[in-house]
Amino acid sequence: MRAATSTRQADADSGVGAVDTHCPYCALQCGMTLSPAGRASVRVRPRDPSAGGLCQKGWTSAALLGSPARLTTPLVRDGGTLRPANWDEALGLVARKIKEIVAERGPDAVAVFGGGGLTNEKAYLLGKFARVALGTSQVDYNGRFCMSSAAAAAHRAFGLDRGLPFPLADLDGADAVLLAGANPAETMPPFLSHLRRAMDAGGLIVVDPRRTPTAERAALHLAPAPGTDLALALGILHAAVADGRLDHGYVGDRTTGFDEAWRVAAAWWPERVERVTGVAAADQRRAAAILAEAASAYVLTARGAEQHATGVDTVGAWINLALALGLPGRRGSGWGCLTGQGNGQGGREHGQKADQLPGYRRIDDPAARAHVARVWGIEPSALPGPGRSAFELLDALGTADGPSALLVFGSNPVVSAPHSSRVGDRLAALDLLVVADIVLSETAGAADVVLPITQWAEEDGTLTNLEGRVLLRRRALTPPPGVRTDLEVLHDLAVRLGQPSERFPADPETVFTELRAASEGGPADYSGVTWDRLRAGERLHWPVPVGPASIGPVPVGPVPRQPGHPGTPRLFLDRFAHPDGRARFVAVDHKGPAEPPDEEFPLYAITGRVLQHYQSGAQTRRVEELRAVVPEVYVEVHPDTARRAGLDDGAAAAVVGRRGRVLAKVRCVPSMRPDVVFLPFHFPGAQRANLVTNPALDPVSRMPEFKVCAVRLSPAAEREDG
Ligand code: SF4
Repeated sequence: MRAATSTRQADADSGVGAVDTHCPYCALQCGMTLSPAGRASVRVRPRDPSAGGLCQKGWTSAALLGSPARLTTPLVRDGGTLRPANWDEALGLVARKIKEIVAERGPDAVAVFGGGGLTNEKAYLLGKFARVALGTSQVDYNGRFCMSSAAAAAHRAFGLDRGLPFPLADLDGADAVLLAGANPAETMPPFLSHLRRAMDAGGLIVVDPRRTPTAERAALHLAPAPGTDLALALGILHAAVADGRLDHGYVGDRTTGFDEAWRVAAAWWPERVERVTGVAAADQRRAAAILAEAASAYVLTARGAEQHATGVDTVGAWINLALALGLPGRRGSGWGCLTGQGNGQGGREHGQKADQLPGYRRIDDPAARAHVARVWGIEPSALPGPGRSAFELLDALGTADGPSALLVFGSNPVVSAPHSSRVGDRLAALDLLVVADIVLSETAGAADVVLPITQWAEEDGTLTNLEGRVLLRRRALTPPPGVRTDLEVLHDLAVRLGQPSERFPADPETVFTELRAASEGGPADYSGVTWDRLRAGERLHWPVPVGPASIGPVPVGPVPRQPGHPGTPRLFLDRFAHPDGRARFVAVDHKGPAEPPDEEFPLYAITGRVLQHYQSGAQTRRVEELRAVVPEVYVEVHPDTARRAGLDDGAAAAVVGRRGRVLAKVRCVPSMRPDVVFLPFHFPGAQRANLVTNPALDPVSRMPEFKVCAVRLSPAAEREDG
């Protein structure tokens, strides 16, 4: 099989053949065929137009492959500016500085920050590099900002987290779908093809403070005040129970904790919820009726529900509703989370998270530590414990107790982290900042050493999409001279730090083979997945164990047993993953946003995405077709609110909050709530939405409250210091 791939590779590089692969951006991971006719001319075609094709980001994704913005040589800071260097100098400098810092302050003085776009192999090797080569506990990643609240809520309710615990195609048969805080019409447009039946049946319910393009398609749009989604979920649950729609048989047979959860929800009757959320009581009852009366119904949550200081409880409230209606763990219905980043699912399973080891194991579990240490060839006692979560890690950089060196892979926290001026200050306080990237992102621009790496179409690797299916993303082009893969960078650095070469393989298939062994027996068990099975087109949703006899000691190196497990497209059909097999209702109550509006800052600011840009925009802002459509940040605001602030459509505004101000063009949108402004977060410098966002963290997931903070609006010329 490998020979066949090599042939395809040679063909692709010479412009003769085509390579089937996947989009570099979001978690839908749409299939695409690349036909390279040279680096500057790569034809992109959707592999499955009937599944919605590609969005504008996917169609234009090849533009960066030949972009002049591409980094092709390492850069080293010298006298305040970055200058070109060779790899030997750059890696030698990084290794020497790390050794000095560790000798002086210990291994936790060096931190690692990863990303939800990294392949499974990179996420795995990055976590291993941090724990073994550096010996640090200080490793986390930007997925903490995206999906960690849904993951924690799913663990709590079901004992296991997989974004969609059912295949995406199951949604095709849905008569009713409630989307809580999701805007797939912009974030992943082809996903809408799976909601056609629900839309045609009048069963699409969208919960969003804005009338988004997704809400436009809904039969019922519920627009709660920002930060009140949990109260709304309680109101709909109350309406469902009061109107006799509770699935008593399911609740009795498959769940525990309903009585405690109901004790809270009983106090949130729809009229009371209307006063808090602004959503009419009749609409809450209608939502409950649509879901309960549908033959096939789903509740799906996304960032709008999660990115709160109460994100875990908010997602938990939506899960409670789904459980009350008897949806999860039944064919043709369920609850799921729409994962965002390209490998948002796999990225949270293989050990780049502060509290995890590969296979979705907990780092504080002695059995998990023993298993992974055996695969890595070290003593369990040599494994560090849990480290700081993403924002706490960034916030500690350069402080007396915090790390003084940071290595960043696949992330741009200068733009994407909350309270970004604080993050910029912390990065500036470091003794060493190393960034591996394909372009000079805002974070790379602040680095001491920048390492140019390959991008998606120039390397092989696996990703796990939003339905927990493992995909092989294939190389279609030879990388430009001068760049290396992240795996090669980690290998080279590990060797310079004194590790045996074979402990950090740079070949992705070899890394995946080791990942299989490390994940075996864990919640996210990949031990039965092989690249050959993926090359053969098998659709494998984890867990994919190698077989019942395999649980036990695992040898280092290739897994010798023959995998044949068909994978697990649908979780929980027989039992949930808690020891008693039952799902948990959790009693959750409404608290409201951590920073409510007041006299000084009377408006809610909410943040989100636009169709043309992805995450911090480091890639998509460099694609001309996308930049031409949305070149800069804007602030959506109701015309009356703009007028009161002395602003017209198109005017330059300052969106001012307690932590900073964002300069943005006014976009008057009559459907906006008068108490809300909206900022997309893809833009740099003074246009960063995260200059105002609140880093208040959820106590369980440690996810920041990106979705709501208090601001005021004024003409951009206003002096904030006067
Ligand atoms: S929906 Fe996501 S995966 Fe599909 S083409 Fe668009 S960005 Fe790429």
